[in-house]
Amino acid sequence: MIRIIFIICTLLPTIVHGQITSANPQLAIGLLGDKTIKTLDIGTFSGRYFLLNDKNDTLKLLTVGDKITFTVKDWKVSFKSGDDDGTASYYTLQAVDTTAAFSIETPTVKLTPVYDGSLRLAANAGKLKLVNYVPIEQYVDDVLHAEVGKNHTLELYKVQATISRSYALTNINKHKSEFFNLCDKVHCQVYNGHGKPNNAIDSAVAITRGEVIVYNNKVIDAAFHANCGGKP
Ligand SMILES: [Zn+2]
Repeated sequence: MIRIIFIICTLLPTIVHGQITSANPQLAIGLLGDKTIKTLDIGTFSGRYFLLNDKNDTLKLLTVGDKITFTVKDWKVSFKSGDDDGTASYYTLQAVDTTAAFSIETPTVKLTPVYDGSLRLAANAGKLKLVNYVPIEQYVDDVLHAEVGKNHTLELYKVQATISRSYALTNINKHKSEFFNLCDKVHCQVYNGHGKPNNAIDSAVAITRGEVIVYNNKVIDAAFHANCGGKP
């Protein structure tokens, strides 16, 4: 029998590379992995961020409007922000506030996406590797923007929120070898950061908070497609 239940605490230890703090655990999402990004600008869109190096030293506090340029060379990342600069194997922009969001500007990405949560930028053989740490409930909200879009009913959004949450949890190890949980493409679930405000999506995620679909007491791998290509 298929049932919908609340996420129970025993599920949480299956989360890898995220900070398990509550029933709203963080997921690690690989961003823009299909692009070869050698340099980019990260801007503070809202809230505040700490910039940490690979020794976990806090280097800088960033507030709204601040920008940092990151550049990769082989296995090292360099940053420049005002008079500050440095080089390390990776940097982390750690969200200070729950409202913290950052933008990504790069010559190879036309739009300037805005993401919630924290960001790690690591050097990966001459390419920047980006991993976004975002609470699962915010992630589900953002996935609904990308996978479903606007102008749908509250009930449809509620169903999809429960499906996307279930899918995320059952596919938590899909990118384990790459040291994150899920990618941002159709391979996992499309995730383009936060879209324009949508009250129906926000309400659906809030109403179904923590709910997943289970069968025989296990969360199901709730595979879905946004477009079947004309075939059932
Ligand atoms: Zn994937």
